[in-house]
Amino acid sequence: MSSTRFHELIADSQLLKAIDAQGYEQPTPVQLQAIPRVLAGKDLLVSSKTGSGKTAAFLLPALQKILNDRTTNPASSRILILTPTRELARQIVKNAEQLLKFTHIKVGMVCGGEEFKYQKAMLRKNPEIIVGTPGRLAEHVTHKSTDFSGLNFLILDEADRMLEMGLIEDVVAIAKTCSAERQTLLFSATLEPQGIRHLIKQVVLGESEEIVVNETANAIEQQMILADDVKHKEKLLVALLEKSAFEKVVVFTNTKAKAAQLDNLLRYNKYKVSALHGDITQDQRRVALDFFRQGKTQVLVATDVAARGLDIPGVDLVVNFDMAHSGDEYLHRIGRTGRADAEGRAVSFVAANDWNLTKGIERYLDARFAILSIPGLVGHYKGPDKLKSSGKAAGTKKKTDEKKTSSDKETKVKVRARDKKNIGKRRSPAAKPEPTIDFGDGFSAFKKKPQ
Ligand code: ADP
Ligand code: MG
Repeated sequence: MSSTRFHELIADSQLLKAIDAQGYEQPTPVQLQAIPRVLAGKDLLVSSKTGSGKTAAFLLPALQKILNDRTTNPASSRILILTPTRELARQIVKNAEQLLKFTHIKVGMVCGGEEFKYQKAMLRKNPEIIVGTPGRLAEHVTHKSTDFSGLNFLILDEADRMLEMGLIEDVVAIAKTCSAERQTLLFSATLEPQGIRHLIKQVVLGESEEIVVNETANAIEQQMILADDVKHKEKLLVALLEKSAFEKVVVFTNTKAKAAQLDNLLRYNKYKVSALHGDITQDQRRVALDFFRQGKTQVLVATDVAARGLDIPGVDLVVNFDMAHSGDEYLHRIGRTGRADAEGRAVSFVAANDWNLTKGIERYLDARFAILSIPGLVGHYKGPDKLKSSGKAAGTKKKTDEKKTSSDKETKVKVRARDKKNIGKRRSPAAKPEPTIDFGDGFSAFKKKPQ
């Protein structure tokens, strides 16, 4: 453990006071590595596991720099932060405001789903820092309501996700209006320069340095429950929540419709539920997440819109009602728990159409998910009849009652040696069957371990 303290990295006393008020005692490993290099003027590609403190790793040095250097270009914004979702933008605005509470620096947010005219008026006041999603910001760039001619930092949080979502054109259009003197910083838990080189080429102007923080994996226990079909999964979900001791749980589905359905199902079962997906209004999304943060609701049912970046204390269980489409998305979903050294558990429901995806993800993570069973709800599905050496189903897929969904398509899961550095210790891929755990005895293993 390093004994470096924040005052050895950050000079501004207002900023140090705010760090203290946040209760941060020591920089995390990613902060330790990134802060000095940002201060030294580098362009960076930073990858470090979920919940490791990446936000402060870019905010602190960027804020230090703008607090230290007066600008000659007061009409221009100084820091621009782009994120894939509105919820993450809002969270970063809050983080920045907390760190700036002893200063006069202003932060503005520009996301879709909110009034354009109001945003334009806000932008006219030249906030030093803007956080937003690429689509709406690109519109403001077209309307010339932004001024990035004196920008010091262009920061892309969850950069790989923005690329996946097809937001690269907007990101590039915005980047073109940013000062050529700026520093560009890209952050994610899954940043693989090969996969995003197209983006890097267009937004990073200088030679970029790569930081890969090599830490032990988060303490997240990963398990799966075999399921026959959607109806069976619904029963499993209700039973799992009933028998588990959790403070807050996030349930991920692959479609908005399914998220809405589970919202109803769990409400019917007397849970206090928040739902977060693309089919509800921005206001509803905001309220849903606020309630979940404040503990007014205990369950968040969400699509992958909630998989990236959200930092919600108390989430100790993540359920994948449908398996994630890729190893990266799986990692981000389960990364909503086990943050900042906390412990967590992830349980995935695996029906026949999730099997190959699950095996691909296990291989990508070099992990084996223990199979759980819930007494009284043990289904017929026991995995494919015949397995290939990869663990995937051999021959024709088994048919189930379940309708084909998009998750049925076998998604390519890339195995990337470099990423594994963030995932943790390699375990030898065993040919032996998965360990089976039966929680007949009151689900003791679901209870939170004492510290
Ligand atoms: P990431 O972006 O890497 O997923 P976040 O930036 O959201 O992680 O940080 C995760 C949590 O850790 C947040 O609640 C944040 O307040 C907290 N945190 C960040 N830096 C520190 C620190 N130096 N000491 C203690 N907690 C920290
Ligand atoms: Mg983050």
